[in-house]
Amino acid sequence: MKKEFIAELHDIGKLLDKDSPELQQYDLTGHTFENFDFGKFGIEKPTSLSWWAQYHHTIKDDEDLNTGDSWKDIPQEYRPDLFLLILADHLASSISRALPQLGSAGESEGVLKLWNCNFYENEKNKGKYWAAFKSEEDLKKLFEIIDTITSPEDFLSKYHKHLILTPEDKSKPRNITSLYIHVELVGKIYRVLKKHCEIKTGNVLELKLNGEAVITIKEAEGGNRTEGNQNIEKGKWQARFVKCYIKYPHSFVRLQDINLLVKRNKLAEDFVAKYKDYVMFHTSDFISLFLPIGVELKEMFKDFLDNGFFIEYIETMADLGILRSNLDIKVIRARENNKSDITKVLNSRNTKVYRKILLPEMLDKIVPPICDICQINPGKERMKENIKEWICDKCYEVRECGESFKYPEEWQEHKIVWFKFILDTEKLENWLQKAFEEYIDSLKINNAQTLKNEFRSLVCQSDFVKDYKGMIKAFWHKASDLAKKPISNYDELGVFLYSGENVKKTIETFLEVYNEYFPDCEGDYLSPISLSLSISNVKYPIREHFRFFESPEGFLNIRNQNIFHSSYDKKEIEYLINNLQPKSLHFLYKLASIYEKTGSDISVIVEIMDNRKSQQNISDLYFKINIPPEKILNFYRITEVGNELHKT
Ligand SMILES: [Zn+2]
Repeated sequence: MKKEFIAELHDIGKLLDKDSPELQQYDLTGHTFENFDFGKFGIEKPTSLSWWAQYHHTIKDDEDLNTGDSWKDIPQEYRPDLFLLILADHLASSISRALPQLGSAGESEGVLKLWNCNFYENEKNKGKYWAAFKSEEDLKKLFEIIDTITSPEDFLSKYHKHLILTPEDKSKPRNITSLYIHVELVGKIYRVLKKHCEIKTGNVLELKLNGEAVITIKEAEGGNRTEGNQNIEKGKWQARFVKCYIKYPHSFVRLQDINLLVKRNKLAEDFVAKYKDYVMFHTSDFISLFLPIGVELKEMFKDFLDNGFFIEYIETMADLGILRSNLDIKVIRARENNKSDITKVLNSRNTKVYRKILLPEMLDKIVPPICDICQINPGKERMKENIKEWICDKCYEVRECGESFKYPEEWQEHKIVWFKFILDTEKLENWLQKAFEEYIDSLKINNAQTLKNEFRSLVCQSDFVKDYKGMIKAFWHKASDLAKKPISNYDELGVFLYSGENVKKTIETFLEVYNEYFPDCEGDYLSPISLSLSISNVKYPIREHFRFFESPEGFLNIRNQNIFHSSYDKKEIEYLINNLQPKSLHFLYKLASIYEKTGSDISVIVEIMDNRKSQQNISDLYFKINIPPEKILNFYRITEVGNELHKT
């Protein structure tokens, strides 16, 4: 049986340390082995299908795959796989290969994570190393692996620890994405193209996608620029990047109604399992897809829609040569700023960006009463604990399905705290763009602006999301005694019994893991990650907690039922945790009441100045970190050990 073409193996050469002393005699250059002299060194040449991926840099974009010189060494039957691999490799590359030469900025050994700059250094100190192959034996093994790896998953798991440390490209500033994500995405995109591509064999080889036949890479992709007058010709093959936000109209009436999130998780898992290769990356409420033209989103998301979810999405359709994860932003910006030079090119290449919504089937006319929960379907009257409710069949089914979370007996009559981690994918894109621009500036290289404009954040996003998931796992590892997970396989949500100490511990644990995974992502209002805590009586309606979680304002958001809500950035919390002293409480109350009465900062400042000797720490918090007194007070009130709130 002919084995599968494993696209992920195309960059296996990047895991080889060709500078290691043992390998000097082999005169290795580049990271592919199409020119390696197997006979001379008595090494067996791989014979599997995957071997031909080694030629992915030798093929010339404008050469006919039937007659082109650069194709001549490749047996005809393997050419389509190599052809599609090259397209996938181009698409997945975080930074266009068409960029000006970068050379002067130097190389880096390990991957640079923009949000964790010392990641590689720290791993190295633990004894890890990027290269998987560094001896003569290893070199032979590398060639064996090309023939013996049985599946993409097999390769990704066996070499995981090296793939995550190695940059896709060592030269700065391209060193910001890991080889792991790169090969993973290349594999996915390759298989999607392969699945939808018609391969015409015979005398003349021809590849067809969506009815368009091509014989060169260039013909398929078109130019790779969106402005100017070079490299802007229309490609024959188009595809789509779609960013999908999974939302629901439901408001949770009872605790069991959060089963809807269990349902969403299950549906997302099933979706990712079914459409594996189309999914570039995902979180619990976001899925980004690479799709050929003609694949119906409505069909793909049918199960979500049938369960009352709706999908907001941004779809970008473009030539393969310019399709990238942030093309939508570029197109929208060009439209807004009337950049006719860009829009003209985009239009001539039939580039489209839509923002749309997929809604569940709704009845033409709904006769009240409607369902209390989803507010879409007609509600049926139901009685529970002497309370009359109108709930539709679907929502009732969700409420009743699975085992539902109940508060422990000893929590009754007490205050509790719900908390939720949030990753905002739109903020993430903006943050990565900003972080990349700062990185470029730090390198002081030519063509800085071009590089900034050409940044594609998709691969970085995928890496970031993996770390986000890792961070939350680490959080629960440390906090499992403290808090409970209402939904066992949903890590973003937690609840615990209120005490000042528990709140403080939760925040401290969050900061600990955050600083471990994202030390260089400043925790401010631009931060893609945030944590929200909502404190209330145990009887408080669950929907109010979730309403609060919907729109996090800052890095850490705290709400105390009917009393206050405040947002803090990381610097503020760290300062508050380290410097706030119990003896300041009275003074803080005084400041807060002055502010409440006068509404004036000046009165507060005067009071602080008058007491700056005895209230040194408050004066510092106010003048150095600029935290308003009521925020200091609020924080103090909820984290104080044995505080008032607990009793009320
Ligand atoms: Zn309903």
